[in-house]
Amino acid sequence: MSEPLHTLAQLEQKQDFVRRHIGPSESEMQSMLSEVGASSLDDLMEQTVPGSIRLKQGLAIGESQTEAEALANLKNVAATNKINRSHIGMGYSDTFTPNVILRNVLENPGWYTAYTPYQPEIAQGRLEALLNFQQVTLDLTGLELASASLLDEATAAAEAMTLAKRMSKNKHSNCYFIADNVHPQTIDVVKNRADMFGFEVTVGKAENASDCDCFGALLQYPGTTGEIQNISTIIAAVQANNGIVAVAADIMSLVLLKAPGDLGADVVLGSAQRFGVPMGYGGPHAAFFATRDKYKRSLPGRIIGVSKDTRGRPALRMALQTREQHIRREKANSNICTAQVLLANMASFYAVYHGPEGLKTIASRIHRFTDILAAGLQQKGFELAHNTWFDTITVKVADKAAVLNSALAKNVNLRADLDGAVGVSLDETTTRAHIEDLFEIFCGADHGLDVAALDSAIVANGSQSIPAELVRTNDILTNEVFNKYQSETEMLRYIKSLEDKDLALNHSMISLGSCTMKLNATAEMIPVTWPEFGKLHPFAPVEQAQGYSTMINTLEKWLINITGYDAVSMQPNSGAQGEYAGLITIQKYHASRGESHRDICLIPSSAHGTNPATANMVSLKVVVVDCDKRGNIDLNDLRAKAAEAGDNLSCIMVTYPSTHGVYEETIKEVCDIVHQYGGQVYMDGANMNAQVGITAPGFIGSDVSHLNLHKTFCIPHGGGGPGMGPIGVKSHLAPFLPGHEVVNMGGEHANNGAVSAAPWGSASILPISYMYINMMGSEGLKKATEVAILNANYIAAKLTGHYPVLYKGRNDKVAHECIIDLRPLKEASGVTELDVAKRLNDYGFHAPTMSFPVAGTLMIEPTESESKAELDRFCEAMISIRNEIAKVESGEWDATDNPLHNAPHTLADICDSEWNRSYDRQLAAYPVQAVARNKFWPSVNRIDDVYGDRNLICSCPGVESYREE
Ligand SMILES: *Cc1c(COP(=O)(O)O)cnc(C)c1O
Repeated sequence: MSEPLHTLAQLEQKQDFVRRHIGPSESEMQSMLSEVGASSLDDLMEQTVPGSIRLKQGLAIGESQTEAEALANLKNVAATNKINRSHIGMGYSDTFTPNVILRNVLENPGWYTAYTPYQPEIAQGRLEALLNFQQVTLDLTGLELASASLLDEATAAAEAMTLAKRMSKNKHSNCYFIADNVHPQTIDVVKNRADMFGFEVTVGKAENASDCDCFGALLQYPGTTGEIQNISTIIAAVQANNGIVAVAADIMSLVLLKAPGDLGADVVLGSAQRFGVPMGYGGPHAAFFATRDKYKRSLPGRIIGVSKDTRGRPALRMALQTREQHIRREKANSNICTAQVLLANMASFYAVYHGPEGLKTIASRIHRFTDILAAGLQQKGFELAHNTWFDTITVKVADKAAVLNSALAKNVNLRADLDGAVGVSLDETTTRAHIEDLFEIFCGADHGLDVAALDSAIVANGSQSIPAELVRTNDILTNEVFNKYQSETEMLRYIKSLEDKDLALNHSMISLGSCTMKLNATAEMIPVTWPEFGKLHPFAPVEQAQGYSTMINTLEKWLINITGYDAVSMQPNSGAQGEYAGLITIQKYHASRGESHRDICLIPSSAHGTNPATANMVSLKVVVVDCDKRGNIDLNDLRAKAAEAGDNLSCIMVTYPSTHGVYEETIKEVCDIVHQYGGQVYMDGANMNAQVGITAPGFIGSDVSHLNLHKTFCIPHGGGGPGMGPIGVKSHLAPFLPGHEVVNMGGEHANNGAVSAAPWGSASILPISYMYINMMGSEGLKKATEVAILNANYIAAKLTGHYPVLYKGRNDKVAHECIIDLRPLKEASGVTELDVAKRLNDYGFHAPTMSFPVAGTLMIEPTESESKAELDRFCEAMISIRNEIAKVESGEWDATDNPLHNAPHTLADICDSEWNRSYDRQLAAYPVQAVARNKFWPSVNRIDDVYGDRNLICSCPGVESYREE
């Protein structure tokens, strides 16, 4: 007898995205549930999550949509964005993303699903691309040491201020100077940062920088309205008083202009956006940052350095990590964790693709068009604000509204925020037709100007718009890598050769505790490169960004529902930035009640390094709260420390479930104790993947959280960024959310200071989270959380008996991640957590989080997206490694002549004509059957960290020898 036909509703259900996002099938879940001792997902939740915090009602997101439906829905929303040609400038320029980079980097999971390169042996590809980024930065800025990207130009400027404060010998000064021709959004962000540190800011004419007794100054080159000043005397004057001078610079202009480092700048920073990264309504883009060698220990963000591996070959890694938040905590240079790796890589590939000659052609063409535009307008009697420029002119106009309107009639946006003038900025996409449009906008249809004739005159007479002494005379990008790959075939293969060195989610599971490396579905990624989202300038009139506001408003509504908060700000562009924005709302709230003396922040000892680093940024004193033997916050210690802080208690920063991977039963009490003393609760939302649909920070009793959209809500990690860290707040904190200087965001917070350069942060990756939530629906989101918990408990169950699982909660269950303790094994065998991590590479896996939150442990977070087969493969590897450790323990294998100590193994090892190890090549490279079928080869052997930090090289190798030739 044939089975009855399914109903239409059942058939539709079968097309659901939910079962694609969730790894295990229904029947696999059943067998996994019995393995962990639960009868159903509901039963597992009952056993795992404290009843007092479980939500009684479901989410209100609605039904899940299929991929096709969700894409069609978002396409309609996107269509309501109006794409005008942008001549706004202000740090954002249109650009051509070379298609070979668009498809093979930005749209390629081999690049976008990789993790931050903490395991350098399986990350040499992106490390090389980042080293190239640093080399581009060094060549263009004229400085000695560069970092591998910061979040945006404005926050990079704020980091330059704190570097100045740390390094300046003008110790008694508390004043920072900002030139008034710095981009307004940068001034806004830096002022806000200064405010929280308690620095005074003076904004004035650049020439007057040395009038105030400052510890540092920020200049812009060229200025926001286009002028190119010789800033060398200003720089020298500030330095004469021991001030440290930062220069925000336009990356394209630097191709033609003398490097700010050569003009004396101590720090040079800016946005690399116009090197091939779409404007995307504000981001994500990489900021570059360079300084002098003597300030290297004070540099914010990650630095890639050259070291060597055990075979003595050059190998790349993240250098000088001891400066960073995860080690130095509240003493760190900055709280930066996730940066902008994917976008830095795109910009560096742009430089590789065009090479020095190509870049010079692009920059010269932009400059020529600007000369032509200026000459034409001057010929028609317009007065320009300056007589120097690279790509931006400021045109004085009697009737600004009329000019802006005639621009709008031609679908053109001009810079509109200047008094009695409009700004016009050109870029590499500018054509002759656009210049003619601009002539019409300013001079009417019969202007009689001729682009070719104006050009001929400039060619004949020369151009004076770049002062002669500021014309760049030295070569840039002389390194081989920038001179080798200009044919597309060569470029394609270069990108592929780097991609092949990196292990990303398209190869195997990356079970990083707290980082939630889940599926980044292709359907979620597709809208990111739609021009409807990519081509909008962040300061375009808001009426033109209807699509963005619909998408953002809907996403905010969903996140409010998911978190149990009342309002959301999309401005912070990383989790750490979210923490910063959140603590500002807390401090401003206290101040509004006359309690600005509240300056103590309680932080459990298990907290992520960004927490104390961020507390320091808002001038809070960190008081560490102990954890008990089970990994829970010690309530007695909390009570004592809260009482001691008393009226000075500002807040607690607490992660939930804890970074130990347990749902603490006492979390509501934790909130109550802090509230009792007038403090606020900041719940770090990095572990929201264990909360969505099951519980919610707002429901538990927290006041504010950031969400890592690049963890819980499917934005890929990009090899170390981008991310988005929006914050949710209860209504009493809403008036203190970030505002923006240039764009009126609406609401009572509109006039508050900003935390990011763009009003809605990295807006162009929000479609990823929008798509995810829409395709999962209320039920799917809840189920994702349940399966994330199931998968973690399944791994814990499978590995128990082989390794101790460090912390468990009620009924011996873990939350969405588990920590396995390697310390007893290390004691017994000498095999370290590092050996296990590197040996996992031989098995084709990325190591879990190492030594956080507890030294000598691995924290494993499989996420809901991994199938049972992959979890089994991972457990097989871990168990096989355990058996290998046993051989060292028993003395069967020598303490150093064993595959753990020598891991990872490379092809160079296996192909070496000499092999005199006590184990064979097969065991080295193919330790289990499954590996042989799909081998991933680490491209270098274990890298020497100490050597790399002692002999710091952060530029492309061979530059010096190349130059000497
Ligand atoms: C990832 C993480 C952060 C920081 O987020 P970024 O986006 O990397 O700045 C903060 N806290 C915890 C617990 C995290 O896991």
